[in-house]
Amino acid sequence: MGINQRTLSAAAFERATRVIPGGVNSPVRALRSVGTTPLFIADANRAYLTDIDGNVFIDFCMSWGVFILGHNNPAVSRRAIEAIQRGSSYGIPTEAETRLAESVREAFPSMQRLRFVNSGTEATMSAIRVARGFTGRDTLVKFEGNYHGHADHLLVSAGSAVANISTASSAGVPNDFTKHTVCLPYNDVEALEQYFLKHGDHVAAIILEPVACNMGVVVPSLDFLKATRRLTTQYGAVLIFDEVITGFRLAFGGAQQRFGITPDMTTVGKIVGGGFPAAAFGGREDIMALLAPDGPVYQAGTLSGNPVAMAAGLETLHQLAFPSFYEKLEGRSRQFIEELKQIIRGRDIQLNHCGSMFTLFFNAEPVRNFADARRSDQKRFARYFQRMLDRGIYVSPSQFEGNFISECHTDDILEYVLKSIKESIE
Ligand SMILES: *Cc1c(COP(=O)(O)O)cnc(C)c1O
Repeated sequence: MGINQRTLSAAAFERATRVIPGGVNSPVRALRSVGTTPLFIADANRAYLTDIDGNVFIDFCMSWGVFILGHNNPAVSRRAIEAIQRGSSYGIPTEAETRLAESVREAFPSMQRLRFVNSGTEATMSAIRVARGFTGRDTLVKFEGNYHGHADHLLVSAGSAVANISTASSAGVPNDFTKHTVCLPYNDVEALEQYFLKHGDHVAAIILEPVACNMGVVVPSLDFLKATRRLTTQYGAVLIFDEVITGFRLAFGGAQQRFGITPDMTTVGKIVGGGFPAAAFGGREDIMALLAPDGPVYQAGTLSGNPVAMAAGLETLHQLAFPSFYEKLEGRSRQFIEELKQIIRGRDIQLNHCGSMFTLFFNAEPVRNFADARRSDQKRFARYFQRMLDRGIYVSPSQFEGNFISECHTDDILEYVLKSIKESIE
């Protein structure tokens, strides 16, 4: 293991930049914040990535949390190949869609009805549309540092608790499109209560990551999660848990199972498609009844419920449904986290973690929200990323992302990773 040459990746990136903006199809892949250029991948198997120069890396990004079973799980790959051989899309219903929907509902009983889409972005966008249709209200409450995909009205920067108008954090998004989005500090019960006291009657929905993972891992207080449930119930708003990362990750039934809080609506993605583009949104039957063709809220998709993605998702959920799966993954993760705590002791580094997800923040103070996370030392993170790469480990390439332990990260692999982290932070 270990990295020597990246000549071919460098050339591939150069070529890509001449046809694809920034050379990438999703910005964080460009690795700019860690001061380097992307690896181009030739192959991935179990916990390993191989780049086109032939370097092998232990993967801790795992396609941003998709591969809880590791890359190229044999049964998942087999099911997907079998599905392709039956034709890869029809635009006509299949039984696989119903079967996967039933499996998702077994894991998430709160998703009494659900619909498949192709990405987390579509799932949150559609969930919010239904919530607005259901309540007849416009205002959406979200939280700083929570990411819900790139729909216009969700690209909103930090706002204050009293601001009615939020400004977009992306060019190309008219402020008129974001004026119904209110952005509050994450994990702050008082700010939320104050806002609802004044404006609660106008709120269509709260959307949140029940454990934040897109500012690095930040676990909110149970009081905060309970407050989102209490206030939405009290004011007749819809509570949406965006479990695109946490779903099937923190438990089979996601964060809502782990913390015992039931939202009105849920979005899942990443893991649910078994490595193919699939996501879902769902929730209470009376809310989901508003969707076309039954109701007035429009939503659709040419490739939604794609049979290849459904087959891969079904096999993935089938493997995750064994109770021992999460026991084992949690046990191994817990041991890794305990050892990691010893390694970083006294070093101005914060270890935030939940289940099989963790982030090392290069920060002397605890990280409880986005403002805290932003005070982390990104230059130190970049050096750490590079040193880990030199040791053959691909950690998630940003201070504001999580790392993911999969079924394929064996004790031997984790031991090597711990040793490498120790060397890399020295
Ligand atoms: C990844 C992610 C999304 C967006 O999903 P895409 O499939 O990238 O569109 C939405 N919400 C959360 C919490 C995510 O982690």
